[in-house]
Amino acid sequence: AAKAQGRNNVFAYDRTLRERVLYRARIERELRAAIKDNLIVPHYQPIVRLRTGEVIGFEALARWKDASGQFVPPSEFIAIAEESGLIVELTEKLLRDACSTATGWPKSTTLSFNISPGQLQDRLLGLRITKILHESGLAPNRLEIEITETALIRDMEAAAKIIHDLHDAGIKVALDDFGTGYSSLAQLANFSFDKIKIDRSFVSSFNEQRKQRKIVRAIIGLGLGLDLQTTAEGIETAEQRAQLLGMGCTLGQGYLFGKAMSASETLQLLSDLETSPRSRVG
Ligand code: C2E
Ligand code: MG
Ligand code: MG
Ligand code: MG
Repeated sequence: AAKAQGRNNVFAYDRTLRERVLYRARIERELRAAIKDNLIVPHYQPIVRLRTGEVIGFEALARWKDASGQFVPPSEFIAIAEESGLIVELTEKLLRDACSTATGWPKSTTLSFNISPGQLQDRLLGLRITKILHESGLAPNRLEIEITETALIRDMEAAAKIIHDLHDAGIKVALDDFGTGYSSLAQLANFSFDKIKIDRSFVSSFNEQRKQRKIVRAIIGLGLGLDLQTTAEGIETAEQRAQLLGMGCTLGQGYLFGKAMSASETLQLLSDLETSPRSRVG
């Protein structure tokens, strides 16, 4: 049957492949222009102490405002930036921007920043990051670099060197999307992290699935045992927050506390929280 359909399929495949190639080429062109024109900027999602709702930091999340004023999500362009090599320039711009925003926050407020998998093969990454950090004047211990598991397996040695360089400079390192890779535990054993971030997929299926809850409980226990802080991602309900708290998770982030917001909105939020200490997010 496959053979009988062959001819048409070949045409159908060719067309979609061709379309995909053209689409990619267009996005790449637009991406290059957007980076140059500073149209891709970090937004910031609050990270809170679960018990109090106090905002202890923000995670920078890239947002691309396109010509029609719509935000293109990172899932649409980070991979293309990586494959085209544009990621180096994009990351440097985003990190500069984010560090400069963070210097306007209270001294205790931290900045979390994502590094994509391919970048861990760049042996100069540690140096690039510390250079930007020093130029910005942000204290190194206020910066936390988030690395996903998939990033680590590609080149263990390069990854280890970069993590070492970051630690050497006083920067913290978090293992992002914990539990979604296929060798999460090996990553914890092979590299030294300061924090693990429990992937959103575990938290969002929490209410219906006992098993997911048990896994999350075990991850938090693992963190406690290894002296790592755990941040739960994707908290959307008060019930999820309460359950996570009950399991010993200290930090969290999610729509319950706030979505990613612009730099000026972070300043507004922080000053609102400061002037009225009892108003916490969540
Ligand atoms: P991530 O680092 O795991 O970031 C968390 C993602 O979950 C963000 O999506 C955030 O908006 C979303 N999120 C947070 N709380 C909730 C919630 O309660 N419910 C739901 N449904 N979603 C929630 P976003 O901004 O689309 O980013 C997706 C991924 O793209 C990030 O995952 C990160 O891996 C990557 N990314 C974002 N910004 C950058 C960047 O500047 N550089 C690199 N290399 N990667 C980035
Ligand atoms: Mg992250
Ligand atoms: Mg994550
Ligand atoms: Mg994620």
